[in-house]
Amino acid sequence: MGYQAFTVQDAIERVRTLGLIGNEPVTAEEIGDGNLNLVFRIQAGEKRLILKQALPYAKVVGESWPLSLERAWIEQSALKEFAKVAVPFVPHVYHASKEEAFTVMEDLSHLTIVRGGLLEGEKYPLLAEHIGSYLARTLFYTSDFAVGPVAKKQIARQYYNPDLCDITEKLIFTDPFYDAETNAIEAGLEAEVDRIWNDAELKREVAKLEALFITKGDALLHGDLHTGSIFASAEETKVIDPEFAFYGPFGFDVGQFIAHLFFAAYPDYDRLRDERIKDIDTFWLTFASTFKALWEREAVEPFRKADGLVDDVLSTILQDALGFAGCELIRRTIGLALVADLEQISDSTVRLERKRHALRLGAALIKRRTECKTFTDLRNFDVTEE
Ligand code: ADP
Ligand code: MG
Ligand code: MG
Repeated sequence: MGYQAFTVQDAIERVRTLGLIGNEPVTAEEIGDGNLNLVFRIQAGEKRLILKQALPYAKVVGESWPLSLERAWIEQSALKEFAKVAVPFVPHVYHASKEEAFTVMEDLSHLTIVRGGLLEGEKYPLLAEHIGSYLARTLFYTSDFAVGPVAKKQIARQYYNPDLCDITEKLIFTDPFYDAETNAIEAGLEAEVDRIWNDAELKREVAKLEALFITKGDALLHGDLHTGSIFASAEETKVIDPEFAFYGPFGFDVGQFIAHLFFAAYPDYDRLRDERIKDIDTFWLTFASTFKALWEREAVEPFRKADGLVDDVLSTILQDALGFAGCELIRRTIGLALVADLEQISDSTVRLERKRHALRLGAALIKRRTECKTFTDLRNFDVTEE
């Protein structure tokens, strides 16, 4: 059976043929945003399932950007790989089809997408700790330090994901730093954006971070770890949508999550800033302590015997993560994919002020990331001087 984009009827038929539902009456609808993938929610009696299918293109600025269907296989494989080491935080996969580029997985509709939930004032008291633990486990266990250099090279080559890496390289590290047509710069921000475009030091640091993203294959990354890729409640946290997965630098996922915690403070900055910084603190402390504990227990030779190496690895991860967080703050403020956290601020003066803040914070994180030896240093950042 070759690939064809599914209708709702096709989706129902597939899960029935697979024996995942019986002959009971079914309701189903397409609930994705339809830019890159189709997402069908299927309900048959007590059974609820999600079928996600990749489309062979992305709709971008009125055009179509061809994308390999291989990414469905990457997403399925990453979900399974992550479930091996971080099962509480990964949706269960019932069926994966490489040929037809679809995955049938657990329906998480009893949870909410974190970005929207936080905007509605929901609380996720365990989110930071859960994502800290999820990332420490997924990153450590897929790295050379846990599987050894030979096995890791075999795994890494399966996650060859050039199309999606290309999107990241363009949209995060390239386009926001010059007058590209994909950018979406709100009127009133021009002067602030010019500062970025004319800042040679900043652009050089961004180029270094981009080079790191392209060349450093530390571990299997999620690759798109923003608050729209996380479902949660007060008790549970599940990470979806790893179609950008590839072997990249440790700091990338860590940095993206940090950036989106910062964004989550902007709707009500005076009230939420401390809460979100506390989340970042908890996230990092959980990540670092879990990573270190795993290392001490399970690192393979030649790394195990190197006393103190794990502390150096962690301080590099923190610095890289802050740089990547800075790039994400900038690109989500003026680039192609903007965030509701800023866009939904209805007062335009406040919105522009917060956007300026996000751009300055982003630039400060990129340029001053090496000043941070520990997380405490981040607390002392004053971006208003940038
Ligand atoms: P895309 O890669 O196109 O962004 P996502 O995997 O992020 O696709 O899914 C898009 C949307 O579909 C999510 O924001 C969520 O609303 C819904 N969705 C995806 N997976 C699930 C799931 N397992 N359970 C419930 N809803 C889901
Ligand atoms: Mg998504
Ligand atoms: Mg996606």
